[in-house]
Amino acid sequence: MKTITEQNLRALVDALISDGKRVVGPRVAGTMTLYEPLTGGAELALGELPRRSAKETFLPLCETILTYEQGKEAVHLGDVDPVRLPETVLIGARPCDVAAAPVLDAVFSWDYRDEFFLERRRKTTIIGLACTGGDDACFCTAMGLSPADSTGSDLFLTPLKGGSFRCDAITDKGTALLAAHAGLFADGTGEPLPLAEPALGALDLEKIRAWLDGHFEDPLWEEIAARCAGCGACAFLCPACHCFDIVDEGGTAKGARRKSWDACGFGKFTNHASGHNPRDVQPQRYRNRIMHKFKYYVDKFDQRLCTGCGRCIRACPVGIDIAAVLEEINDK
Ligand code: SF4
Ligand code: SF4
Repeated sequence: MKTITEQNLRALVDALISDGKRVVGPRVAGTMTLYEPLTGGAELALGELPRRSAKETFLPLCETILTYEQGKEAVHLGDVDPVRLPETVLIGARPCDVAAAPVLDAVFSWDYRDEFFLERRRKTTIIGLACTGGDDACFCTAMGLSPADSTGSDLFLTPLKGGSFRCDAITDKGTALLAAHAGLFADGTGEPLPLAEPALGALDLEKIRAWLDGHFEDPLWEEIAARCAGCGACAFLCPACHCFDIVDEGGTAKGARRKSWDACGFGKFTNHASGHNPRDVQPQRYRNRIMHKFKYYVDKFDQRLCTGCGRCIRACPVGIDIAAVLEEINDK
């Protein structure tokens, strides 16, 4: 069994940065904590669940997937090769964030392989952190996970009484990182800090999927979502939402093609060039959100697009609570 002190964890961040790696972890940014690239171990802030999820490590809010410039005889392309993407270590990520990464692998390597996403995944080592600080919005246990779930992690840290961490290598990538920085770790063990205790109990997820199967049309959608403002906050904060749009910017001389997050809650998400919009009112859009997460993705990949992180509950400006929606369906 290996342990690492908090001081050495910060030294590990410094050593990884010195090695030329991009290190992403929770850091205080203004009034909130966000997963962002760290400039040193002193910035690591493990106290709070970051406001946004860690998916930006693999799926940036906006990324350039090519640039073009008209030359005298040909058009020159740039930034097309994902090999340019940096080796990364994501450190201090909560189980509800980390567990979403392998869920996203399924769709990004399905009928079309998204080499930008997959290259970032290949080049990232994830150091997960057991969660000792949840709140009323958390419901990871109802989604079949737990505050100590190491799904998706390469190394997994468990906070111990006294301030150090137990460190378990989960994959070969994790073992390699541990071996490369062995001097910062010690043999030993300790007593774990109490874990977070999500409030929502068990849900029958198969029952929920079966109900959704038969209730594409149901008064529930209007009841829940007539008030949805279509702001997209729920999708942008979610570790598992992954819809994106691709737009070309620039002119005939030069420009760039960019991939940016999108959200099925936006009114124009399904707008056709003809002007027809098959989801023309908000309840239809919210229905899609629930169907995609708890039925379509399950049917296709046998996984759910929700880890129970609670971010969409905390942020929804009109108080739509996805855990309460699931409970309501569960109790039907
Ligand atoms: S749907 Fe909501 S609770 Fe579930 S993972 Fe996404 S943001 Fe978290
Ligand atoms: S955060 Fe709330 S209001 Fe905004 S799109 Fe999501 S459900 Fe609708």
